[in-house]
Amino acid sequence: MIQNPDLIRSNLLGWYDAHGRSLPWRVGPQAGLEGVRADPYRVWLSEVMLQQTTVPHATPYFLSFTQRWPTVEALAAEVDGEVMAAWAGLGYYARARNLLACARAVANQHGGVFPTTEAGLLSLPGIGAYTAAAVAAIAFDQAANVVDGNVERVMSRLYAVDAPLPDSKLELKRLAAALVRDHRPGDWAQALMDLGATICRPKSPLCEVCPLQAQCKAYRAGEPQTYPRKLKKAAKPHRYGVAFLIQRGGEVALIRRPDRGLLGGMLALPSTDWRSTPFADQEVEVPFAASWQAAASIEHVFTHFSLSLSVWRAQGDLPGAIWTPLAGLGALPSVFLKAAKAGLDH
Ligand code: SF4
Repeated sequence: MIQNPDLIRSNLLGWYDAHGRSLPWRVGPQAGLEGVRADPYRVWLSEVMLQQTTVPHATPYFLSFTQRWPTVEALAAEVDGEVMAAWAGLGYYARARNLLACARAVANQHGGVFPTTEAGLLSLPGIGAYTAAAVAAIAFDQAANVVDGNVERVMSRLYAVDAPLPDSKLELKRLAAALVRDHRPGDWAQALMDLGATICRPKSPLCEVCPLQAQCKAYRAGEPQTYPRKLKKAAKPHRYGVAFLIQRGGEVALIRRPDRGLLGGMLALPSTDWRSTPFADQEVEVPFAASWQAAASIEHVFTHFSLSLSVWRAQGDLPGAIWTPLAGLGALPSVFLKAAKAGLDH
């Protein structure tokens, strides 16, 4: 049962006016009142970057992207490899490919102008329900229901929802929808995001300074940090592989991974397949005969599995390789950068 929706709204919007975060893609409440509108390109870019990563991690990427490609047309006109390299370190590389597909659709099919409705935004490649709602609300002040993990957490606590995630997703979305109004929908979405990120934090919510404390059922019941309830997750599968660190002079041999699949289109160290059993040395198919040295091994955790990657090192030539100086290895995705550094340090 939704109680006091107007009180919840006025308390949270009042808190946002005073304590909302100042972020480089954001138009603050005062500037909004003065008629300043957010740039849809910057809102969209920030939302894509912020999926599954934090504001401090995403911010330098956002600043460098917008400096290098200040408009959606500029981004759309860039070659894929440059954008993929600039994305390296943000993870979830399929998103970088979707980013380009979306930028090109906006530039080529919409005259460089983002659609202003949730439905119009959803029709763009690579834009899902969350991003469409966020851009519609924040950039175009549409009364869209913007629900991510932060908002689910706040709703589950505010209303002490005992059903566990993910089964409770629809219920949490319905509770969030009942608080959306035509009045300041963009600020409302951002206020909820800020509350979830800075006050109603996952492990240690700061209930003592929360503007919704008086309305919060989980706070009243005690132990609000135990919400949202969750079904136990199955353990992640583990995989094993061997990466090859091949050096020639001061350069390292890189390859570009196929467009489809994990880390698709990204630069990489050559490697074996990644499989569920460890490799015995004699099973490893090396790229060429040489004096290979087992130099290091690293652990890396992806969304759906964890990986133990051994790094074998040799001097030699690899036909077709992209020979890259050590200073250029920053364009590698995290797993291969970690492997290259470990192998070089050895
Ligand atoms: Fe979250 Fe605590 Fe505020 Fe409830 S009172 S919304 S648990 S920070």
